[in-house]
Amino acid sequence: MLDYLGLEEDLTAEERMIRDEARRFVESEVKPDIGEHFEKGTFPMDLIPQMGELGFYAPTIDGYGLPGVGDRAYGILMQELEAGDSGIRSMASVQGALVMYPIDAFGSEEQKERWLPELGTGEAVGCFGLTEPEHGSNPSGMETRAERDDDGYVLNGSKTWITNSPIADVAVVWARDTSAANAPVRGFLVETDRDGVSTNKIDDKLSMRASVTGEIGLDDVWVPEEDVLPNVEGMKGPLSCLTQARYGISWGAVGAARDAFEDALAYAKDRDQFGGPIARFQMQQDKLAEMATQITNGQLMAHRLAEIKERGDLRHQQVSMAKRHNVRMAREVTRTAREMLGGNGITTDYSPMRHMANIETVYTYEGTHDIHTLVLGADLTGIPAFE
Ligand code: FAD
Repeated sequence: MLDYLGLEEDLTAEERMIRDEARRFVESEVKPDIGEHFEKGTFPMDLIPQMGELGFYAPTIDGYGLPGVGDRAYGILMQELEAGDSGIRSMASVQGALVMYPIDAFGSEEQKERWLPELGTGEAVGCFGLTEPEHGSNPSGMETRAERDDDGYVLNGSKTWITNSPIADVAVVWARDTSAANAPVRGFLVETDRDGVSTNKIDDKLSMRASVTGEIGLDDVWVPEEDVLPNVEGMKGPLSCLTQARYGISWGAVGAARDAFEDALAYAKDRDQFGGPIARFQMQQDKLAEMATQITNGQLMAHRLAEIKERGDLRHQQVSMAKRHNVRMAREVTRTAREMLGGNGITTDYSPMRHMANIETVYTYEGTHDIHTLVLGADLTGIPAFE
């Protein structure tokens, strides 16, 4: 596997173990069927408990049966899972960074005990409802409302583009609490079998096909007071979850790019044209050299991000830079890899075009490329170009 600057030589024994376990899982459990799942638009459901058993959900949390590994180990895990498919990494990202993280960071002890062990093993599936039909890049415009009702709240509104909503047992729903002054955003743990909850599946996706995506409809849904996340209020709740998930995406995108590169390199050495392998042509070598260099750049950024995160100093703008850079890099690398495979490159027999299609989603979710550009622009100049 491409590691041109030998970054993995510095991994600890625990990080190596996690990398090797994730690679084995991807090779034996993901790769054989992922092309078929992508074609059919299905998620390999049998992998949900398997990933739980392997400790792939929120492994940085310590306690509740979770291993409490470091941030670099977590990043490496995301990289290896996305080398399989962005849909597999999305499953782990959503469950870990967007559902278990807010419960751990902002939940009551009862909420943690109720949900973290089950989500950790994959017995329960969670989803994260922030985006609404009219509010994507600007989630603070959200219209979903929670109205006080005796010892609970009544929720009304709709969320869309929610990874895993049709298969989720619990949704972390962000809504405005209209009973409090200035209607602050609060997080609600909404069991999806509550009256008034609907989770229609979104079909016809041309990207992230091996991932379940849906809506969350909330029609007078009553939730008890004890299902409100007690320790956070305002947009910092959802935004801090997104910073966690984006950190993982910065690593994951490198995995997709690396896997596409490995396919292109093997193909170039194997495919003969004009009396020998296409890898002997300078134009193909230029593409390989450029891809390897860009992937290495992405790896350096991800490894450095991990160091800063483990030190406890990571700023969300630094995560924006890495997400923006590494996803754009993966977008370019997967397309070049696809091109090197000629006609075969447009099939699901090879990984590059599947990765390339997936990366269109990764480029858009968790803050679009444009929005991260604005975040960096505001940080560099001190002048926000958006609210
Ligand atoms: P819009 O915000 O309408 O943006 C459209 C275009 O306008 C983009 O190119 C954008 O960059 C640009 N734009 C917007 N504002 C500006 C500006 N100020 N300056 C310059 N350009 C701008 N959401 C969840 O809450 N939970 C999930 O689990 C989840 N999973 C997803 C899974 C998939 C497969 C997809 C596709 C999306 C998912 N999302 C999820 C939603 C995702 O986060 C949003 O799609 C994303 O935030 C962009 O919002 P939008 O689609 O409404 O695009």
